[in-house]
Amino acid sequence: MKYFGAHVSASGGVENAVKNAKDIGATAFALFTKNQRQWLAPILTEEQIATFKAAMTEAGYQAWQVLPHDSYLINLGHPEEEGLEKSRESFFEEMRRCELLGLDRLNFHPGSHLKKISEEESLNRIAESINMALERTKGVTAVLENTAGQGSNLGFRFEHLAYIIERVEDKSRVGVCLDTCHSFAAGYDLRTKEACDATFAEFDRIVGFNYLRGMHLNDAMKPLGSRVDRHSPLGDGEIGWECFKYIAADSRFDNIPLVLETPDEARWAEEIAKLKEFAK
Ligand SMILES: [Zn+2]
Ligand SMILES: [Zn+2]
Repeated sequence: MKYFGAHVSASGGVENAVKNAKDIGATAFALFTKNQRQWLAPILTEEQIATFKAAMTEAGYQAWQVLPHDSYLINLGHPEEEGLEKSRESFFEEMRRCELLGLDRLNFHPGSHLKKISEEESLNRIAESINMALERTKGVTAVLENTAGQGSNLGFRFEHLAYIIERVEDKSRVGVCLDTCHSFAAGYDLRTKEACDATFAEFDRIVGFNYLRGMHLNDAMKPLGSRVDRHSPLGDGEIGWECFKYIAADSRFDNIPLVLETPDEARWAEEIAKLKEFAK
């Protein structure tokens, strides 16, 4: 079965994300469990946790239908000691928040070398950062997202993801989120059935579908291989509907959150309805 949703607002409290997801007909959703522009947040209270869990139960969502996203400030491959320390502490806290909320995965962008250390050195730091966070938490999988490769961001090659996974000690708690816009911007074509076949076969060969814990469904504003991360509503960008029909109909994408991060919130309900139709 397919589970579609969007990255909804948690403004005013994490429990509001549940309501916002339900309102657009989502059967999966993403959220920030804290303000994504801040390093740290006040610890979750017993009451906040209970309210969130009650909202989840009432709306009928289970943990695996939710793909929380960490703060954009975090860089687990940071070249400098201070930035790395801060990122690791903040990432641990984000993992801990998921654990407290009863959620089972946390989506994050691998990290950036900032042109100060080699790709390999930065990737090693990312793997080490994940190991440290997994050691201090329970039941939450660290979900690496592939990137568009903008600036010095790593994770734009499937090989980067495989390299990191290889160095994570607990393989049962590391996974991947594929973003269609990022894949396309990084040079992986998704415009036709044949292109999707080839791209996902390569993903399976290098990383493996067994690591797939979620998808971000976004069309791309910029052309193939642009290395620029700009999302478009589905069907409005360079990728086109074919790719989203393909994913909706393919059982390799069953039972994971398939989440829109498309720019026009007003169109989410309609995009989700279309995807559900393609999945029939
Ligand atoms: Zn994404
Ligand atoms: Zn993006």
